Amino acid sequence: MSFEYHEPPSVSEAVALAARFGSEARFLAGGTDLIVQINRGKLAPRHVVSLHRVPGLDTIAVDGHVTLGALVTHRALERSPHFQGRYRGLVEGAQVVGGHQVRNVGTVGGNIVNASPAADVVPVLLALDAAVTCLGPEGERTLPLEEFLVGPGQTQRRPEELLTTVRFPLLGPNSATAFLKAGRRKAMEISVVCVAARMTLDAGLERCREARIALGAVAPTTLRARAAEHVLEGEVPRAELLRRAGALAARACQPISDVRASSQFRRLLVETLVPRVLARCLERIREEGR
Ligand SMILES: Cc1cc2nc3c(=O)[nH]c(=O)nc-3n(C[C@H](O)[C@H](O)[C@H](O)COP(=O)(O)OP(=O)(O)OC[C@H]3O[C@@H](n4cnc5c(N)ncnc54)[C@H](O)[C@@H]3O)c2cc1C
Repeated sequence: MSFEYHEPPSVSEAVALAARFGSEARFLAGGTDLIVQINRGKLAPRHVVSLHRVPGLDTIAVDGHVTLGALVTHRALERSPHFQGRYRGLVEGAQVVGGHQVRNVGTVGGNIVNASPAADVVPVLLALDAAVTCLGPEGERTLPLEEFLVGPGQTQRRPEELLTTVRFPLLGPNSATAFLKAGRRKAMEISVVCVAARMTLDAGLERCREARIALGAVAPTTLRARAAEHVLEGEVPRAELLRRAGALAARACQPISDVRASSQFRRLLVETLVPRVLARCLERIREEGR
């Protein structure tokens, strides 16, 4: 396995190289997916375009929106003071990716473009209604993350496009996020199932105004459980309703059986974890409201 290695010093030069080499090139961010896949013979790019010298892609900006540069690492998400309150789910997703070494270099952009159905940060971003921006020779285009993900290892990204940012709206008052992961051990473990949720309650902290539920490792892509979201919206989120949402979410998934778990067990995990992740959102909103 050999490839030509490029280190462009700017976004425009990175895109120009990708346009020149097309599907023979791959961008290299943290390399925690790409290098593993090259070593295993699953990918054999003739050109590797490193993003290490490209400035400006590792920033977290919070204004009317939250904008994450594609090179923001999982470690940076975990540590960012912006995400310790309402966005806590993002921290919870980032802090279970691999081990310390993986989180120090693995990036949000890599997690998205790698498009593993078991990616841990992606469900939280889906629950936050995130959109991704790609830059190609013809300019930028932005599309909802949900549309961007096409299947295992597949996205709408064109070979010459660089994912530059991920953006999501700011959360208003009475909102919270949470993330839960079931794995066979506590660290360095790909999710057997992971679930993320976001909830917003009304001003009286009684009824659910908006709900988002996203499921990982139970379908070809990370999935929104829309029927489960709808059953919550406008209602008082009592324990019984959270359990109904869990049952609806379990119905929405199409899990496979593999070495990690049977499809039946994965469905059961979804049914169990969804009420828990929603209850965690509720606790957080009520704590903030006190
Ligand atoms: C031991 C180990 C444990 C792991 N555990 C987990 C886990 O628990 N949960 C989890 O979700 N993941 C896990 N991973 C996978 C991996 O660490 C994450 O998916 C990580 O976020 C990938 O980011 P990266 O920067 O390393 O991507 P890279 O490996 O650099 O790139 C991944 C893919 O995305 C492309 N790419 C990267 N950045 C861009 C960009 N800006 N624009 C266009 N294309 C781009 C690359 O060309 C490549 O195809 C693990 C990996 C290892 C090695």
